[in-house]
Amino acid sequence: MTAAGTPIAVITGASSGIGAATARQLAAAGYRVVLTARRKDRIEALAAEINDAGHQATAYALDVTDRAAVDEFATAFRTLAVLVNNAGGALGADPVATGDPEDWRRMYEVNVLGTLHMTQALLPALTASGDGTVVVLSSTAGHSTYEGGAGYVAAKNGARVLAETLRLEIVGTPVRVIEIAPGMVKTDEFATTRFRGDTDKAAKVYAGVAEPLTADDVADTITWACTRPPHVNIDLLVVRPRAQASNTKVHREL
Ligand code: NAP
Repeated sequence: MTAAGTPIAVITGASSGIGAATARQLAAAGYRVVLTARRKDRIEALAAEINDAGHQATAYALDVTDRAAVDEFATAFRTLAVLVNNAGGALGADPVATGDPEDWRRMYEVNVLGTLHMTQALLPALTASGDGTVVVLSSTAGHSTYEGGAGYVAAKNGARVLAETLRLEIVGTPVRVIEIAPGMVKTDEFATTRFRGDTDKAAKVYAGVAEPLTADDVADTITWACTRPPHVNIDLLVVRPRAQASNTKVHREL
């Protein structure tokens, strides 16, 4: 999978929310985007939309927790400009005392091991490009904790540490490592997935918050960071809505 002259960007979790918005914005910025997620119909529809808009996109169904599938996917790339490790999310909001270990395991698998699989498999192609970029979508949850958040906070700390450590280990190679840490982003599925389809609980996350971030706001920061000159490494970009001063201090107009 190469396109002479056109830099390629792989985006995981491109079937919804921040990943879909990032695919649209990177395509508009001149990248040939490769959309991956488990829901094939979603990414195929988005790839068609991007192609219809005059940009370049392809779709590839992929579960980032499946190492064999990730390795097979990576064989298609001789060189790669950008990898956006966006696939991830939260499951549950239970206290440590009662949280389901299976939720913790699944969050670790997608947010940490998924990012590890994709990064390991594609690092040779990113290096071969002579100017590669790895983006890791962590979260403000990867920087400070909150009640009911421990499983997700632990997983996002894992993603943050992966990014920080990789940057140390590959310094001197032509690959930069960018961590984007958003606060509250109102996407269609994040909170609904967290609360297993309970839309009332999901709505409470954003209740009274005048303007949570949108998927496009975060995609904008990713696209900006990726399109800086190659010698400029945005190590960490923390972005929150104005109404959110910390993970536990949110202004709600109720
Ligand atoms: P979202 O709409 O729920 O998107 C999550 C994406 O991850 C989906 O496209 C989903 O696609 C994909 N995914 C989940 N498990 C996967 C797997 N095993 N293999 C491949 N893809 C998988 O959530 P979002 O709000 O856009 O969040 C995107 C990222 O930003 C996540 O890493 C999230 O933790 C992070 N983040 C979100 C917020 C927020 O407030 N929304 C804040 C900070 C950070 P399929 O189901 O089709 O596979």
